[in-house]
Amino acid sequence: MNVPAQWLSRIAKAQVEPTIDLIDGTYQRLRYGTEPIASGLHCRDCAARTGQLHVAGCAVELCPRCGGQTIGCLTCTPPDDGDEACVTAEVVMS
Ligand SMILES: [Zn+2]
Ligand SMILES: [Zn+2]
Repeated sequence: MNVPAQWLSRIAKAQVEPTIDLIDGTYQRLRYGTEPIASGLHCRDCAARTGQLHVAGCAVELCPRCGGQTIGCLTCTPPDDGDEACVTAEVVMS
């Protein structure tokens, strides 16, 4: 698998956040290779290697609380988390 250097640095950055804050506490994020749909040495969506954490927003990463897909797991995500903070950050940056 040919992974661009820029993306490799995104994978590296993803490794420093091993936990995710969910509605009832902080959970350890699931690493690539623990998913039942995992196949091959690299995640097919974010290219993380077996044992590495997925890049934020990866469609393969599973929610450690409910076992569903992390992205769009509204059941487990605190209601005030995410969207508004992201929008604010983008406005500040531009
Ligand atoms: Zn992934
Ligand atoms: Zn969940």
